[in-house]
Amino acid sequence: MLEERLTIESLNPIANEETELIADWETLQHTFISPENEETKIVLVKYMEQILFGLHDFLKKHVGISEEISLKELSNDFKNSVISRNPQKKLADVARDIIENIAPHAVNVASPYFIGHMTSAIPFFMIHLNAIVAALNQNLVKLETSKVVSILEKQVIAKIHRLIYNDSEAFYRKHIQNPDSTLGVFISGGTLANVTALWVARNAFFKPKADFLGIEKEGILAAYQAYDIERCVILVSQLGHYSLWKVGGVLGIGNKNVLPIDIDHHNTIDVDKLRATIQTLQNSTHKTKILAVVGIAGATETGTVDPLPVMADICAEYGIHFHVDAAWGGPTLLSDKYRYLLTGIERADSVTLDGHKQFYMPMGCGMVYFKDPYILDNIAYHAAYVNRVGSVDLGIHSLEGSRPAHSLILSSALEIMGGRGYALLIDHGIEIAREFAKEIQRRPLFQLITPPQLNILTYSLFPEHIRKMWHKSDLQQKRTMIQEMDRINCVVQRLQREAGKSFVSRTTLRRPTNLGGDRGVLRSVIMNPMTNMDIIREILDEQEKIYYSLTEKSYESLESLVQN
Ligand SMILES: *Cc1c(COP(=O)(O)O)cnc(C)c1O
Repeated sequence: MLEERLTIESLNPIANEETELIADWETLQHTFISPENEETKIVLVKYMEQILFGLHDFLKKHVGISEEISLKELSNDFKNSVISRNPQKKLADVARDIIENIAPHAVNVASPYFIGHMTSAIPFFMIHLNAIVAALNQNLVKLETSKVVSILEKQVIAKIHRLIYNDSEAFYRKHIQNPDSTLGVFISGGTLANVTALWVARNAFFKPKADFLGIEKEGILAAYQAYDIERCVILVSQLGHYSLWKVGGVLGIGNKNVLPIDIDHHNTIDVDKLRATIQTLQNSTHKTKILAVVGIAGATETGTVDPLPVMADICAEYGIHFHVDAAWGGPTLLSDKYRYLLTGIERADSVTLDGHKQFYMPMGCGMVYFKDPYILDNIAYHAAYVNRVGSVDLGIHSLEGSRPAHSLILSSALEIMGGRGYALLIDHGIEIAREFAKEIQRRPLFQLITPPQLNILTYSLFPEHIRKMWHKSDLQQKRTMIQEMDRINCVVQRLQREAGKSFVSRTTLRRPTNLGGDRGVLRSVIMNPMTNMDIIREILDEQEKIYYSLTEKSYESLESLVQN
């Protein structure tokens, strides 16, 4: 039986029979306790095999970047809002359905030609680790549902904290398993990590004092009154991730008070403007509290790293919480060659990192770290049945309640890969991105917009007729040309995506006028270790080919696409 060639059909001998499935107590119990017999056991193992290899090979063979079927057509098959009374499918049917009907219309993010987003291939072992996490089903909200896994989580948190802050051996010995201190928390992503960091900063400032129980208890209005404040602001460059504007909303300070600071010609925060803004705010007649300055270590759109040491100096000078959003760039710290790009991160009060980006973990893992091991007490919550005062329950210091043991995945992945393994991935991404930039500069049809500092770059099609005119043109004419280029980039990107082989993303870079103003650009993220220069050249060749085949019709079809 085991030698049998594996097909989905062989998993499901009765797939074509018309048997009515029923939910009864006995079958139900089998799904919890153990497989009915040896035969089912073998079948279950085969499912796992299918998930590991079948799905993988299937995607590789049959699925490009995405299928050509429109969302509208697809959604016609998903309009049933009734939960069926009886079971409809066996696991075999479900697996087959997913492989045959869902997977082909999903996106093959693992393709080395998929270089448009921060989601990519993950190592095989991540699927095993993810399965183990599901099988153990530990809940890290409290010790009673996780025990040693909570302890293990504290250990991996200390490892990453040390990678960022490189504090003393004595410091880590003191805090690594200390129930009274917390070096960081796991959370479902960079967004909530940013929320957590700035929630802590807010509560740390509006802390309890005479006749005031703290902002967490009394709310924003009472807090502003108690501290004689009229508004709170957060400062970040205009390349800040949009999650920071959500933070403004969630924390109740209003997201119009998340103030974007201009970038300079390195595509990083203009520190003179940052300083000037801080001074203006301090002299303002509105009593303003600057809750935090956020430095970006790997901007989502350009991969650029803000001048963290200068920002740290400014924050120290004015006594402002310094948060570094390293959701993307954080793992660069594992590279001996490129770690220096993040210098200054060790001076941050808090740091956001994502596991599901450059730690190559499956979706759903973010982290936030703090320099001060006690600062998380500002958001501590206790309950009678969980997270009791003085317990090791990790839920005390987390925005989330129940959550999975993603720390087990990271901890194991670090053991499997070693820092050096991750460094190879990081170095590859940065070096291919640099080669990519050179290739763009060699090609007359393209213009490099933001050179890669890490492994992200943006560029634009820059057709000859525009190139010739460019230097002779005034600002108004340049605007018109930029509009035309935006349109061209947009169509080329769309058509390439629809062709289904390659995917580069598109974004609008908001830039000050002295840097050319807002531009629609193509954006590439190099993180797949299988993406090499041959592939990059193919992708650029395809873009050239699409450009030269453009007709007025292409633009019209774009218009209709946009209206959809
Ligand atoms: C991805 C990203 C985020 C948001 O993280 P999610 O995991 O998508 O919630 C925040 N900041 C930066 C710089 C990012 O790249």
